[in-house]
Amino acid sequence: MKRNLLALRHLDVDDIQYLLSLAQEYKDGLRFAGGNGPRRSIGLLFFENSTRTRVSFEQACHKLGYVPVNFSGDGSSMSKGETLKDTILTMRHEQLDALVMRHRASGAAFLAAEHFSGPVINAGDGQHEHPTQALADAMTILERKGQIEDLTVAIVGDVRHSRVARSNAWLLSKLGAHVRYVGPNTLIPSNMSGMPGTVHYDLKAGLTDADVVICLRLQRERMAGPLVSSANEYTKMYQVNRGSLRVAHPEVIVMHPGPMNRGIELDDATADGPHCTVHDQVHNGIYVRMAALEWSLGEDGAA
Ligand code: ASP
Repeated sequence: MKRNLLALRHLDVDDIQYLLSLAQEYKDGLRFAGGNGPRRSIGLLFFENSTRTRVSFEQACHKLGYVPVNFSGDGSSMSKGETLKDTILTMRHEQLDALVMRHRASGAAFLAAEHFSGPVINAGDGQHEHPTQALADAMTILERKGQIEDLTVAIVGDVRHSRVARSNAWLLSKLGAHVRYVGPNTLIPSNMSGMPGTVHYDLKAGLTDADVVICLRLQRERMAGPLVSSANEYTKMYQVNRGSLRVAHPEVIVMHPGPMNRGIELDDATADGPHCTVHDQVHNGIYVRMAALEWSLGEDGAA
């Protein structure tokens, strides 16, 4: 059965748990890629910059015995004015089996899913969602903390422009975590558009007793104008560092989806310290993307 992975908001708890367990089985070496099935071609359509997501989807394809077909918009007919819809229809008739797509427009993955014949995995659509990042983060939290239920998770920084914040907020609250959004009011919509969680404009209040802190960078590429008075002032008020973490749980973990802007949203000592999970998140990204690809193609062996 074909399944799209477009948004955590629409994924039910059973599917989230299943994807996490599949990823863990791959990581633990308890599950091996089939290799005997049809050689699937996976279109990797990255219309926005990417380091980790793109490389780990490519790695996931290789490990599963799938063939990644890279496409980036630049150097294609999109620069000659072709629409996204026509590009997706072209990919369909090129006989790709699945699409992984990143695009700067929120909702672009939904449009792709309407016009493509096989499954579509959203690898980040504007400021809307980034489902596989949230799955990699959840897997990392489970490894470090043994649970997600009842943990207090503070998402700190530019929440307004962050698809990582949105996907994590949906996933973690569905699994029973208490989510807090922490940052200046210019970077946090006051009602968070009906999202689960509470808003804190004061860093100390937001970090108090937090078990997990997710740091976000200022996503200037999505800001129409300046939303913080200066990087210096923002850093003084909202940087995650040893001082600000003093009020958090002593065993707090500090996460970051990357790319980190060291010296702004977190300091070097925190980024390189024992509480930081950034490299685990990257590593786990390979396994959750393997799980997502198999599951979306219906090749995970489940009925
Ligand atoms: N890499 C993440 C994303 O694509 C986070 C970021 O860019 O700040 O959303």
